[in-house]
Amino acid sequence: MTSPSFMPTMRTLAELHAHQTEGLRWTVAHAYQGSAEYRRKFDAVGIRPDDIKSLDDLPRLPLTTADDLRQGYPFPLRCVPFEKIVRIHSSSGTTGKRKNLCYTQKDVDDWTQFFARCYEMAGLTTEDRVQIAVGYGVWTAGFGFQSACEKFGAMALPAGPGNVDLQCQFMRDMQSTVLCCTASMGLLLAEEIHQRRLTAQIKIRKVIYGSERSSRSMRQKISELFGGAELFDITGLTELYGPGTGIECPDHDCIHYWGDYYLVEILDPETLEPVPEGEWGEMVVTTLQKEAVPLIRYRTRDITRIIPGACTCGSLMPRHSRIMGRTDDMFIFRAVNIYPSHIDKILSEIPELGSEYQIHLSRDASERGVMRIIVEIDQAGDLSQTGTLAARLIKKIKRELMVTPEVEVVAYGNLPRSERKSQRVFDTRIQDPII
Ligand code: ZN
Repeated sequence: MTSPSFMPTMRTLAELHAHQTEGLRWTVAHAYQGSAEYRRKFDAVGIRPDDIKSLDDLPRLPLTTADDLRQGYPFPLRCVPFEKIVRIHSSSGTTGKRKNLCYTQKDVDDWTQFFARCYEMAGLTTEDRVQIAVGYGVWTAGFGFQSACEKFGAMALPAGPGNVDLQCQFMRDMQSTVLCCTASMGLLLAEEIHQRRLTAQIKIRKVIYGSERSSRSMRQKISELFGGAELFDITGLTELYGPGTGIECPDHDCIHYWGDYYLVEILDPETLEPVPEGEWGEMVVTTLQKEAVPLIRYRTRDITRIIPGACTCGSLMPRHSRIMGRTDDMFIFRAVNIYPSHIDKILSEIPELGSEYQIHLSRDASERGVMRIIVEIDQAGDLSQTGTLAARLIKKIKRELMVTPEVEVVAYGNLPRSERKSQRVFDTRIQDPII
């Protein structure tokens, strides 16, 4: 039972930094040469690829944002000819232009390689049976978990998302040992096997979950209901290959990110200046080997912090905290990325409703996520109709965003007004501190 190793070959920080410097210089030259958009951005700040000599030069480079990706739709920031592109993935945005990302064969291979490393970090062996309960399709999740599992050499069970009966059946009949899913799905399945009295017949010993924040109590509950399973928070975003760009280590106090594939800076989202080491800010990433769409100082909008120093687990790979939240108002509910602008748009299509609303995210007694929308009726609205209007709104949101909220329609003027931007999203799903 020997498992292959996908860990980096470098042994010292000096070796890692030399590799990063080389990767940065290659990326900058490649982007400048391959993409008119990148060239324009560099020229605008008067930077030539040769100006970038060391990692200290990174802050001189212009930032890249999600807008750059949207503006270049359908093949934004493409740096290689089309014949080199072997795959396209899209982000899971539900309205507006999707973020499409191109991949070369090397990009796909690199992603598979470092994702396999995640399984290794989580202590899997080739004898593990990995039930992959995430979405397959244009987005990156299913492909990422699947290819890396096969590359690693464990048994992949592509169950897909949802379908609780099938999930329970797979876990029992196939004797799955690892479950890959969102935290909410993990909790749901843990409760199901408990209620169906299947616990004794289930062999799940590790849960690898991502794409959603999770509280310590929720993690504890999932672990307990699975009879003491070990949990691993996995990170990633479509722009940066997909999931698997980092994972919690067996010492469970951080995320190790793959510093041989990308650099992380933490910036103050207002001033865009670096924060002191160890402080919270926006994660900004720069790829080191990505060919089709390299990212240069890409603003992820994710809030985290660098954890300085070496980890007790002995890994050379640098660390950040688990993701605390987002700098924009986007929130993730039941694995769907939702922006308040989505809700704005849906409300505007029901003229009897006003435009003032609040979104409250919480957890019920069984730790399940609840999304509650409080919305005002239109100034001329008929208060006897609040029940019907709530039902209409629920139906519409369900159809467009594929999640089911609770809705309360209140009288006009009932919600507080603010001269500044109104706070729309109140997220109390996590009460305990993020590590
Ligand atoms: Zn560690």
